[in-house]
Amino acid sequence: MALNVPAPIRLICFDLDGTLIDGTIFIWSTLHEAFGSDPVRRKKAAQEHRAGHISYTQWFETDLLLLSERGATKDKIRKVISGLRPAMGAVETLRVLKERGYKLGIISGSLDLVLEHFFGDISFDHVLLNRIAFSPDGRIQGGEATRYDLEGKAAGLTELARREGLDLSQCAFVGDNTNDLAVMRAAGFSVGVFIKHEDVRSAAHVVIQEEDLRAILPFFPPREALKVPRV
Ligand SMILES: [Mg+2]
Repeated sequence: MALNVPAPIRLICFDLDGTLIDGTIFIWSTLHEAFGSDPVRRKKAAQEHRAGHISYTQWFETDLLLLSERGATKDKIRKVISGLRPAMGAVETLRVLKERGYKLGIISGSLDLVLEHFFGDISFDHVLLNRIAFSPDGRIQGGEATRYDLEGKAAGLTELARREGLDLSQCAFVGDNTNDLAVMRAAGFSVGVFIKHEDVRSAAHVVIQEEDLRAILPFFPPREALKVPRV
C-alpha cells in the first residue's frame, strides 16, 4: 500500500529564536537592547556584513565587543535570557518527536546559552549555533561563530544530512522568519510556525496557524507507523 508521505522524514531541524523560543525575534537584538549597546556601531556592523565587507565571524565578534563594553557577563546574559520563555508546546513537541524516532537538530544564529537554558534536557542529535566563551569570572572572552546562519542554514542542513547519511528529501526544517527561507527551500519538508514575514508562507510546505508548536506533530507520525509491514 502506498503511504501518503512524500519521503519519510528522518531528521527534523529547528530554528531557535522565534521558533522554539518566545519573547525574542533575534536574541542578539534582545541582548543589545537590554545592555544598551551602541546602536550606530551595531547597525554599521550589520550593514557591512550584508554588503559583504565583513565576514559573519567579524560581525559576531563586533556584537560580542559591543556587549562586553556594556558590561555583559555570563550571569547578566543569563538573566536576560531567563526573561524569555519556550514557545508554547515546544518542550513537549521535542520530547514527542524524539520518542517517535526522529533525529533532532538545531540550525540557528542564536546562542548556546539560550538553548542550554530552555532545552538543556532535550538530547539534540546535532546543534549548529553560535557559542560564547567566558573567562572563569564570567567575562566574555570570545567565542565560535556558526558557519550556518542566514543563507548558510541551507548548507547546515546539507551538512547534517551528510552526517546522518540521508538525502535532503528526508530532512525537515521548522522556522519562523526570513533567515530561514533558504533552508526551508532546501529541506524535503518545511514547516512555518509563528510566522514573522509573508515570504515564509510561500517558502514553507506547510504553515501552522496555531500559536502552539504541538500543531506540527501530526505531520511527523511515529516512525514505526511508516514501516510497511513485511509479508
Ligand atoms: Mg527565528
